[in-house]
Amino acid sequence: MKSKVLVVDDSSTSVRVVSHLIKKADKIPISVFSLAQALDVLNDQASDEFLCAVVDYTLPDAPRGEAIEAVLKYNIPVIVITGRLDNNTREQILNKPVVDYIPKQNAQVYEYLTRLIVRLERNSKIGILVVDDSLLSRNAAVNLLKRHNFITYEAKDGIEGLEILNKNPGIKMVLTDENMPNMSGLEMLVALRKNFKKDDLAVIGMSSEGPSFLSARFIKSGANDYLNRPYCHEEFFCCVTQNIENLENIEAIRRAANSDYLTGLPNRRYFFHRLENTSPSAQDCVALIDLDFFKKVNDTFGHEGGDQVLKDVARLLASHFSRHLIARFGGEEFCVYFQNTPVEQAKASLEEFRIAFSERASWINQQPIKCTTSIGLSNKFEGEIDGMISFADLALYQAKQLGRNQIVVDELQANTQII
Ligand code: GH3
Ligand code: MG
Ligand code: MG
Repeated sequence: MKSKVLVVDDSSTSVRVVSHLIKKADKIPISVFSLAQALDVLNDQASDEFLCAVVDYTLPDAPRGEAIEAVLKYNIPVIVITGRLDNNTREQILNKPVVDYIPKQNAQVYEYLTRLIVRLERNSKIGILVVDDSLLSRNAAVNLLKRHNFITYEAKDGIEGLEILNKNPGIKMVLTDENMPNMSGLEMLVALRKNFKKDDLAVIGMSSEGPSFLSARFIKSGANDYLNRPYCHEEFFCCVTQNIENLENIEAIRRAANSDYLTGLPNRRYFFHRLENTSPSAQDCVALIDLDFFKKVNDTFGHEGGDQVLKDVARLLASHFSRHLIARFGGEEFCVYFQNTPVEQAKASLEEFRIAFSERASWINQQPIKCTTSIGLSNKFEGEIDGMISFADLALYQAKQLGRNQIVVDELQANTQII
């Protein structure tokens, strides 16, 4: 279900712009023009339906930011928007536990609102570990992170930090102090980089030592970024958000590079990457699956019809072989790698798949498209994956020759000597 965002603003232009941005972030805007109306809505609807509220600092019935605290009482995160740009107002706003404030200034800062709303939702699934021996500065960082909906973890030195990190795979970022008893921030950083790469876990070094080479030492030892204390709220959030977004972008690029655009299945590149350091064992086998007379499907139903069949066969393969490595190898050819699976067992599950696929239809423009598959299966290998795939390919060719819609197994004989 989409979450709602409450907008409290007396300017109808501003409400229009903000509501548009909220819809862009795929949320439902609920707009009111005064504090009194906001309270009516909040008393009427469950507060957990709201992801956050966007509150104007100056309202006719709340001229000095009174609406901020009134909404915070409902445990709803508040983003403040304001036409006032003076430092005094800024400080007053940020001293309250708000998510952030946005000056009604230019288009760019409004874009920031969309990003902020998207982040609030995503952050609720992201863990951040704060490692610091000082309770005061740990609390300061944790409180700021909580404002942005992050799941927070705390450690008082490097040793505890490593323990917590190893136990909680949801942690995507570590904010660490340098000077701590037992294990310093830099020592912890060097230790954790043995298991966690920079692209998977962001580390931000922090220290209040003033100008020093510490920032460079942190970065050279594998930190993603560095924050000097004391930091202002904005600096802190920009640094955290930017580094989290970097991780997400890398993850998205990785996913795109490893999967097939049409079917979403892993691609050939990913398949071989996964098996890079694997030598097939006598209990492994590989199947090549090819659609029969697929050219005719395209000729009869158009490319769109062909694409639909490819998506459907991919989905069925994924559901039948979820425990195994599957890939779209090219055009209408797919591959399944069965690790530690006796060939008879692989054959039986492929047979189930073959029958299930042949008995169903894909649909395009209310027309059914029936299609079948030929499958070559082999557990023979010549020391590496490529060899085993070649044998599966020969078996597939035979299956086509023998009339299609069937499986041919090129099996390693039990009494064959493996050299
Ligand atoms: P066979 O039973 O011998 O395998 O015959 P076939 O027609 O399936 O094999 P052929 O290799 O002659 O044709 C494969 C066709 O698959 C040709 C190509 O246009 C089509 N194809 C490859 N990739 C895609 C795709 O992404 N979408 C669609 N719609 N068609 C594709
Ligand atoms: Mg310290
Ligand atoms: Mg084919």
